[in-house]
Amino acid sequence: MCGIIGYCGPKPAAPILVEGLKRLEYRGYDSAGIGVLENDVLHLVKRAGKINDLRNALPDGLGGSFGIGHTRWATHGGVTDRNAHPHADGRGNLCIAHNGIIENYTALKRNLETKGYEFRSETDSEVIAHLIADLYDGDLERAVKSAVRLLKGTYGIVAMHRSEPGVLVGARNGSPLVLGVGHGEMLLASDVTAMLEHTKQVIYIEDGEVVRMTADDHRTTDTRDNRIDRSVETIGWDLEEIEKNGFDHYMEKEIFEQPESIRRAMQGRLDPDTATSHLGGLNMTNRELLDIERVKVIAAGTSYHAGLVASYLLESLARLPAGAELASELRYRNPIVERNNLYFAVSQSGETADTLYAMREIQRKGGRVLGICNVVGATIPRESDGGVYIHSGPEIAVASTKAFTSQLTAFYLFALLIARKRDMSYSAGLSFMRELERIPEKVQVVLDRAAAIREIAKKYAGAQSFLFLGRGINYAVALEGALKLKEISYIHAEGYSAAEIKHGPIALINEETPSLFIVPDDALRDKIISNMKEVKARNGKVIALGVDGDNELADIADDVMFVPSTNELLSPFLTVIPMQLLSYYTALERGCNVDQPRNLAKSVTVE
Ligand code: GLU
Repeated sequence: MCGIIGYCGPKPAAPILVEGLKRLEYRGYDSAGIGVLENDVLHLVKRAGKINDLRNALPDGLGGSFGIGHTRWATHGGVTDRNAHPHADGRGNLCIAHNGIIENYTALKRNLETKGYEFRSETDSEVIAHLIADLYDGDLERAVKSAVRLLKGTYGIVAMHRSEPGVLVGARNGSPLVLGVGHGEMLLASDVTAMLEHTKQVIYIEDGEVVRMTADDHRTTDTRDNRIDRSVETIGWDLEEIEKNGFDHYMEKEIFEQPESIRRAMQGRLDPDTATSHLGGLNMTNRELLDIERVKVIAAGTSYHAGLVASYLLESLARLPAGAELASELRYRNPIVERNNLYFAVSQSGETADTLYAMREIQRKGGRVLGICNVVGATIPRESDGGVYIHSGPEIAVASTKAFTSQLTAFYLFALLIARKRDMSYSAGLSFMRELERIPEKVQVVLDRAAAIREIAKKYAGAQSFLFLGRGINYAVALEGALKLKEISYIHAEGYSAAEIKHGPIALINEETPSLFIVPDDALRDKIISNMKEVKARNGKVIALGVDGDNELADIADDVMFVPSTNELLSPFLTVIPMQLLSYYTALERGCNVDQPRNLAKSVTVE
């Protein structure tokens, strides 16, 4: 969600800032802007719309070798050129870019207005520019520190001042900031993708910290001037990984990467000699693992659906009570945190505000929280008590696909670990492990059938509304299928337990509303077939997603898709793939912006 970039070095800043913003595009935004200093003049160029609109608006030959840039995801004030960042003070002396929400901006604004400061935008962020101007006495770093002490809310800020050419100051509370340390150049950004082209050496800035940087120096302190020394880390991702590699869209690339990304999430973590898994990052002793009495997953969106699968799995495989809850709800309902409860905070970016704040609330009450995240060094993995990195590589498309199956992988490894401690024999463990290892090749089989799924997508792309129905462990997959479709094709979709439709949703059935049923080859198959027949009896269109060899489905459903057979607990890995492909192809048919769907952001860093 929204992105910040800052650059100081020997090169012209504007193209570097715009390129950096382009790399941050995937996070979701509605406007963009840059501020650069050239010949003692602060140039601000800001546009509602795409980065290309900003690029086209840049004056020819804009020089200056330091500056800041921003992609905005509006929270306060409409999507207009004027509300786009950076925001300047009244005299054009300084400008800032801000990610987050300033909760006390009305009071601050009123105070500044009485002092004669004039506001030009409707944003909360502009208050920061005037506040720094008001506090400025020749030292930008000091003024930023004094300003942030007065702010309530969340922020990642980068600021520059005309009187201090070559100096950028960043501050963070709740919105990510990373410093990139190059050779004779320095960058500051919301995430590492924006700086990979220039450097892989980074320092993560923490909440409550302020960083001052020049082309060849940087200093991090807290707001009380205590110096903070943190070592430089090296990013493991390559530039090629954030390119499309010949695919039309990031989402398509990421769907097709799944055999590999699932394999990577398992790599080195399975031990056939003991038929269990090794997850070094959990930071828990064998005895502590055995003492866990209940698991709770906290997450949002697709990660929440991974948590629902995990709960079902942990109860079935490991006989460990488990549940999943939306992080946004948990945080505000005074959750009961019991001894021997283990929490998982699941977030691809590791920055999801709802999940992060829920995690902190649990930790404050003394609970232990493990993170399941993709982005190494993000806030959740840093603040959690341990966890599992899923190593999916960068996920750029807003709609999550490969991160979901890798989150599942992490949970399956954890479930095997716990099951083998509690209730599972060596041989049962080994056969489960072997089947888990076969998942990547079975995912590949499903991907090889993409053309058939595309035909189905074409047929139903005009639908106004869609139902996704599953049961047992595939109930969560039905929810995920519905979420994927609405996210990127804007078709209204509902996910339900197939058993539940007779309690309400069946009223929606007519010739125009397709229902996609997930039909596994388990004990619930026949029940689901009955549910399908109920829909057919009401003239509804039925798409069945069954298991290879289930030939009866073609007689009942209008269209069928198949996945290879596997252990029923492992089936979500396979059943979710056709859902992802169906959504992707449907969005293409409807001419939607697949990678950056309207109103959505990749990394949701506001509550
Ligand atoms: N609250 C600010 C605005 O609406 C910043 C939003 C963002 O994080 O992009 O302009």
